[in-house]
Amino acid sequence: MAKTLEERGFPIIDVHGHHGSLRLLSDGSPGKFPPVRSQSLALEKYFRHKEVTEEELLSTWETEDEMVAMFRKYGVHSLPCAWTAPVGQGEEGHDNDYIYNLTKRHPDVFLGFWGTVDPWMGKAALEEAERCLRDLKAVGIKFQQPSQKFHVDDPRFNPLWDLIAGYGGFIQWHGGYTGVGTGMPGGGGIKILEYTNPVDVDNLAANFPKLRIIIMHMCDPFTEAAELVCMHKGNVYRETSGALPRYMPERIIHDMNTRLKTKFMFGSEYPYFRLVDDILEGWEKDVKFRDGIQELFYYKNALNILGDRLENAGADLSPWKGLV
Ligand SMILES: [Zn+2]
Repeated sequence: MAKTLEERGFPIIDVHGHHGSLRLLSDGSPGKFPPVRSQSLALEKYFRHKEVTEEELLSTWETEDEMVAMFRKYGVHSLPCAWTAPVGQGEEGHDNDYIYNLTKRHPDVFLGFWGTVDPWMGKAALEEAERCLRDLKAVGIKFQQPSQKFHVDDPRFNPLWDLIAGYGGFIQWHGGYTGVGTGMPGGGGIKILEYTNPVDVDNLAANFPKLRIIIMHMCDPFTEAAELVCMHKGNVYRETSGALPRYMPERIIHDMNTRLKTKFMFGSEYPYFRLVDDILEGWEKDVKFRDGIQELFYYKNALNILGDRLENAGADLSPWKGLV
């Protein structure tokens, strides 16, 4: 059994999850699906190893009340992401206001949120990114390039990086393999390697040294490249959502324990991975941390790396100050 907050003795900051995937909201209204239902169902088949209907998928999601109670019990403070790809996928999904409002209903659980924009929407994307950063105080903007079908080092998107860097925002960049489209004919049109190679981040980070970038996930099969770009570029960081801890390559665990110990942050990928059974218990059971590394990974790095953005988002970090 995973340790509760009381048993562990320190809280956790979860830098990535889809906390808007809920069966029912606190006000009695239904939660929203992430974009593209057929791909969500295929993704669920990939994770659960069986076919599920939309109703069955919904029934596995928690209600808003259940979700926040669980995150409180385990002392996990999160930064949920919005998610949209209308040009690449044709559906809107978890829009920015939906996720922003969710975080504002539970400020003790949520420390901020990640906005979403579709870079192909040009001026509208710039305006929405600016609204997220200026008005909604987003920590940054999360991208999913295989679904959104773009390269971050394509110069056509430079105005977006200028804008995000100008507001001091981060971006979350999807690294490597994605479960989206898994098993569908043609992978649902998703090209898993084309847009997920960290060479794109190496170029972007070099061209925009003020833009802070988090390479997400295991970054399979580009793990080594991801770690080297992260080591080389002072404005590039790592997080670990999107894989069971027992499948993390030794290279990642070694780098977390050594040369990248101040750069790796904890991410849950809730609810695709169950917070308690899959993630918290997995890290406790299947990974060996050197002394002091757990605290860095679970919350200190996130405070050091994202602290200015969390404060900008209105998070009260005073209880954390004594912990760093
Ligand atoms: Zn995700």
